[in-house]
Amino acid sequence: MTDPLSAALSALLSRHHALSDGQVADYIPELAGADPSDFGISMVSVHGRIYNAGDAEKPFTIQSVSKPFVYALALSELGLARVARHVGFEPSGEPFNAVSLEPETGRPANPLINAGAIVTTSLIAGDADAGFTRIREALSAFAGRALSLDEDVYRSEASTGDRNRALAYLTSSQGVLARPANEATDIYFRQCALEVTATDLAVMGATLANAGINPVTKRRVIGEDVARIVLSVMSTCGMYDHSGEWMVRVGLPAKSGVGGGITAVLPGEFGIGVYSPPLDLQGNSVRGMAALQDTSTRLGLHVFAPATEARTAIAASTMAGNTLSLWLRGELDFIAAEQIARHIHDQVAAFPIGLIALDLTNVTAVRPIAAELLAATGTDMTSRGVRIEPTDPSGFLGTRPGVVRPPPSAG
Ligand code: GLN
Repeated sequence: MTDPLSAALSALLSRHHALSDGQVADYIPELAGADPSDFGISMVSVHGRIYNAGDAEKPFTIQSVSKPFVYALALSELGLARVARHVGFEPSGEPFNAVSLEPETGRPANPLINAGAIVTTSLIAGDADAGFTRIREALSAFAGRALSLDEDVYRSEASTGDRNRALAYLTSSQGVLARPANEATDIYFRQCALEVTATDLAVMGATLANAGINPVTKRRVIGEDVARIVLSVMSTCGMYDHSGEWMVRVGLPAKSGVGGGITAVLPGEFGIGVYSPPLDLQGNSVRGMAALQDTSTRLGLHVFAPATEARTAIAASTMAGNTLSLWLRGELDFIAAEQIARHIHDQVAAFPIGLIALDLTNVTAVRPIAAELLAATGTDMTSRGVRIEPTDPSGFLGTRPGVVRPPPSAG
């Protein structure tokens, strides 16, 4: 029996299969042999569930979808301040292979255009082989399986990639490339020729969605801060000179590659991988973009269209005698704590309350700012002669370092 989500993904592919616009990339000769009718999609939740349809398991080369993940590796190894000396964060509004350097700093505008990606790759430690090995291992950790190199595509790009070599020499002349130009491009060409499937791209995206923990292998691949930075850059620069329109129409941080793959991410929820080789003029997969726009609209995934109605941290509130009882639920973040603090304040102002029973049994996590606001509310209540009695079986209010999370649950 097919589950409803896989069935919905199959229906989605059928709706867009007839779309025949776009051209398979041929500036890397080996890519020209891709089958233009290939079409696959995969969705992976932060709980590690995988939903596939069409050619979701067909291998192709990752190309530029590698860029945000190598950027993540560079950030993990060197930290933001050092990386930012070499590559910026601003959308360039230019094609992926543009000769684009910031006039004042000589840095490429961002790590997702080729110039910025080559500089990012140059920052990875070790000689050329060791550097590539680190990249391959990092991308494999994101994908949750060992990725292999498509030697033919690598050689094909290495023997034709003069424009990328030119970008490397240019960044080298500006002092922002961290290793010899020929070495940087060689590692970059190998990184682009790693073989993935749409499912791999979805797992990689889900790892970013899940704040850096691969939801399938449960391994932490990068820190939460790095995941946040990478998603921010993907949301402003991931689709090159189509990034603004993409954000308006689809509203998911994403990264495309000329192999026909796209990774899109709904933070906290899903990673999506799509694969269809024909590209538009910006080098983005035509059917891939149509499928993602359709998915985002139908499933309501736009990051700026949150489900506000469903988000209440107060599951129930009752009054008996002079006792106010509150049952809290879910992850307590800033807005949840604001809601709770406000509710307590309003109730205490309106009724003669002596005791507040705060039940955190169904709370799943408490962010530091929420713990702080609740503690401040507690102090305020004490000064008014109101006692707060928490039922806090996970001890969320006692511990504060970072986001407090329970062990991963099944489901
Ligand atoms: N390897 C390709 C290049 O550097 C990647 C470009 C892309 O996927 N947009 O030209």
